[in-house]
This record gives sequence, structure tokens and C-alpha cells, in this order.
Amino acid sequence: MATRKVTANLAFGQPTKFNESMTPTKADVFQHYMCLRQEENVNRTPREALVTLCQKISEDLCRIWNKFSFPTMSFEGICLKVQRLIEMAQCFNKIPVIRRGSEKFKKEKESFDEMFDICSCTCFDSGIDRNSCKCDVKIPVLEWEAFLGQKKRMNQLGAVDKIVSAKKKRTHERKQKLNERVAQQILRTTSNNNIETSFEKTSLESSSSGSQEFVPNEKLALTQNLQNRLCYPKHAATSDRYRVSSRATAAIVNSALQDIFR
Ligand SMILES: [Zn+2]
Repeated sequence: MATRKVTANLAFGQPTKFNESMTPTKADVFQHYMCLRQEENVNRTPREALVTLCQKISEDLCRIWNKFSFPTMSFEGICLKVQRLIEMAQCFNKIPVIRRGSEKFKKEKESFDEMFDICSCTCFDSGIDRNSCKCDVKIPVLEWEAFLGQKKRMNQLGAVDKIVSAKKKRTHERKQKLNERVAQQILRTTSNNNIETSFEKTSLESSSSGSQEFVPNEKLALTQNLQNRLCYPKHAATSDRYRVSSRATAAIVNSALQDIFR
């Protein structure tokens, strides 16, 4: 009879299936494997080959990872990784009880509590930030914090909030597009201005000396400070007193400055 005492594994404890609210650890994967084997014994079904069992485990793994919207490596890659882990855990299981008090054993056991990482992006392990990620398939920016939480085994996933995260993703994309459009507009207007000013300058210089180095317009546009961030507190107070609108004030100041630095 399969009592708890009989089924319990010395190193990994009771065989249990995956907790659906966390990305599984290495120990979880082996416990899931033990659980599938135990089911075979209970149901008296023929013992499956390790490869097919690894495929089943990989499918379960992918299902959980998809809930988190984390990109995963290829299915074949996951199957291989699962198989390697199971073989490693089986070897670890064979360590005799006398040697289980050693530091080496403890360290090895702790390593099984790490996340079983099947992410296509390995930047976190290499100490690379999300902004510097050069992987082909990146972790979405919005999911990066959640991924860190899972890596550090901190946060749990509640009920799947695909609707909310899809909404967030859409607004994020919209904001990004808007920012890109604004940046392009600024670049276009400044490059237009630069064309005008550089044309004036070169025409003046060519008449006087004609030995100046040519600077490309794009470079000028990037190096130029695009916004005037100076404060004009007295001017603001005066325009408030005479009830001149902010827009009109900005136009007046701009024209005055242009006259001064002409
Ligand atoms: Zn990456």
C-alpha cells in the first residue's frame, strides 16, 4: 500500500504536482515527475519512457509560463533540460544518508530551490539589465519586474489577469508610439531650422572666409538643446497681473529673445 511514509522521497519529500501560481523550481519539476510515476503505479498503467514523460512535464511547464507571459525557449530545448534535471536529481537522490550532513550536500540541495529557468532571455543570470537586453525574444518591459519576483521566489500569481495585462500592454505601446512620433517631429523641425541657419551661416562665411568645416544637420539637431528650461518668475508674475495667456506670454518672450540675440 502506498502510504505517505513509503512514497516520501528522502531528498525531495512528497511527490506533488506543480503549484499553478508560481513558476516551478528545479525541486518542483522533480516532484512533479515523481507524482507522474506514482500515478502510473497506482493506476497500474505501463511505465512510460523517460522521454515521453519529459514531454508531458514540459507541456505543463509551458502552460504555467504562458500564464505569466514570459517568453520560453524551444519545446525541444525544454524537454532536454527537464530530462537532464531528472537524471541529475536521481543521482543526487543516491547520495548515502551518512554524507547528507555535509556542506556540499546542503549547497546542492539549496540549488534545487532555484527557479527552473526556461526563459528565452538569459540576461538576468548574466547580470544584464532589461534596457541592455539584446536577446532575439525579450521579456516584455511590463513583465520584467514580475520576472525578477519569480527569480527571487517572491511574488505569487493570483488569478490570471490577461485582460488587465493586455490593456496595460496596449497603453504602453500607444505611449511608446506617441513618444516616437513626438521625437521625430522635434527632430524634423530642428533639422529644418538647422538647414535654414546653416544655409545663412555658410552663405555669410563663404562671403568672408570660406574655410569652415561642414557639420551635418542631424548631428547639429542632436547636440542642440531642444527646450528652453530657464525660469522667468518676474515675467510670469507680470503676465499674470495683466492676464496675458501662457501661450501668448511664451510667444512674446520668444520674440523678445530672438530680437536680443539677433
Ligand atoms: Zn535578454
